[in-house]
Amino acid sequence: MAHITGFKEFERELPPKAAPQERVAHNQEFVGMYSDEQLNHQAARCMDCGIPFCHAGCPLGNIIPEFNDAVHQHDWEQAYQILSSTNNFPEFTGRICPAPCESACVLSINREPVAIEEIEKHIIEIAFSKGYVRPTSPILKSGKTVAVVGSGPAGLAAAAQLAKVGHSVTVFERDDRPGGLLRYGIPDFKLDKWVIDRRIQLLEEDGIVFRCNTEIGKDLHAAELIRTFDAVVLAGGALVPRDLPIPGRDLAGIHFAMDYLTQHNRRVSELPITTEPILATDRRVIVIGSGDTGSDCVGTANRQQASSVTQFALMHEPSTDRPAHTPWPSYPTIFRTSTSHEEGCHRYWGVHTKAFLGNEQGQLRAVLVTDVTWETDVLGRRIAFQEIEGSEREIPCDMVLLALGFASPQYEGLLEQLGVALDDRGNVCALEGTYQTNLPNVFVAGDMRRGQSLVVWAISEGREAARRVDMFLTGKTSLPSKNAVGMFA
Ligand SMILES: Cc1cc2nc3c(=O)[nH]c(=O)nc-3n(C[C@H](O)[C@H](O)[C@H](O)COP(=O)(O)OP(=O)(O)OC[C@H]3O[C@@H](n4cnc5c(N)ncnc54)[C@H](O)[C@@H]3O)c2cc1C
Ligand code: SF4
Repeated sequence: MAHITGFKEFERELPPKAAPQERVAHNQEFVGMYSDEQLNHQAARCMDCGIPFCHAGCPLGNIIPEFNDAVHQHDWEQAYQILSSTNNFPEFTGRICPAPCESACVLSINREPVAIEEIEKHIIEIAFSKGYVRPTSPILKSGKTVAVVGSGPAGLAAAAQLAKVGHSVTVFERDDRPGGLLRYGIPDFKLDKWVIDRRIQLLEEDGIVFRCNTEIGKDLHAAELIRTFDAVVLAGGALVPRDLPIPGRDLAGIHFAMDYLTQHNRRVSELPITTEPILATDRRVIVIGSGDTGSDCVGTANRQQASSVTQFALMHEPSTDRPAHTPWPSYPTIFRTSTSHEEGCHRYWGVHTKAFLGNEQGQLRAVLVTDVTWETDVLGRRIAFQEIEGSEREIPCDMVLLALGFASPQYEGLLEQLGVALDDRGNVCALEGTYQTNLPNVFVAGDMRRGQSLVVWAISEGREAARRVDMFLTGKTSLPSKNAVGMFA
């Protein structure tokens, strides 16, 4: 145990952040690091519970009490070994995971949880600085080849695990650089791109080959992949955006969030942009949708100096207390304020957008909305909404960003050519727990299988799928299984 009375002696503390007005002037990360003493005290808050619920709350099954203890003992190498045994990319999760482990922390029943995510980030950054993070693939190869389609966190995790057991891995990516949504969705101010480049370099040193600018199903027929490789892992994400097909949708000034965010990420990385520029500068921006994507649009619009940023959510304003339908240790639906919200945003809850209104030039000038009330069940879960009579009104704006989530993976090309079976939500279907599609040598992981989700789940699925591929190729596997984790996430 890190420190037997640590949880009574020390309060939860997070590293310093740059002030909102200071950080919106740039696009880089703005969260600092703990001092040695702060890190030691935060690790000391871990109670090393008999049943570590945090461990089961993490979709990767991160062995949290043990790495907290190693941090408290200043045993950085041990802390890194424990963390990297379950998580290939703690530098990503340590920055952008919503930390369902912290919602499951026993301390969070009546106190602030252990700052697990920050401790994770510190372990990996210290490990990099001390040179502990090195390539791990064996010199002796298995002679088996695997193609991974998609270089988001699921594809990267699958590739990393497969390389670890000696398979030759090629990752195909249609974008010009690897990373998936880590690179072209999530903005630099949450995840600086050098963090991705540093990891890609290590994966290349592990022998993984990246073939970017290659869309399977377009530049290369899917059948070619099946013929050439012993196994294929599909990790193409679920990138078809959900639309809002209401009157006025074709007006100028309405964009999908990902078109906007991808452009901004490319601009910040000084990469060429070939589409019409989408800029929020001096515009009254409305973001429709309240998830991570919407929040990233808010932060980006503020950095582009929008004249105002407003965000709509159809759901009613959540309470700051855990609702009955998400009790401890589950991940609760509560009111959350992201760092982007701190930077300035009018947030409207229970707003139904009925139409986009334009001027004579076909340019968006306002949205027509009504307020709604929600009917809920006894546990507080939303069932249906009703418009509030007399609440209809116009809200002036120049630009709308649609951040309503993603409907499905893209079918044209890759999935159509393969003819893989889909589940009833339109995602690629795999037998429960096997990650194997209806084609025996084709496996699937991440958002493409589970629908729009989280980076931590994508890594977890990539690792599990790799284990199944290894068993398929060799009849056995030494890759670890996560067992009963991610239960409350
Ligand atoms: C704006 C935004 C912000 C987010 N913020 C967070 C956050 O803060 N925390 C969090 O945990 N999660 C966040 N998420 C969710 C998270 O990014 C995803 O759940 C995760 O990236 C899914 O990983 P993946 O590997 O399954 O797919 P993706 O990351 O979508 O990667 C799929 C890759 O496959 C490639 N591809 C697809 N088809 C082909 C093909 N035929 N040939 C070649 N390549 C192909 C795509 O180009 C893409 O690069 C966010 C999502 C968005 C959109
Ligand atoms: S990966 Fe996410 S859920 Fe798992 S320990 Fe880290 S912050 Fe917690």
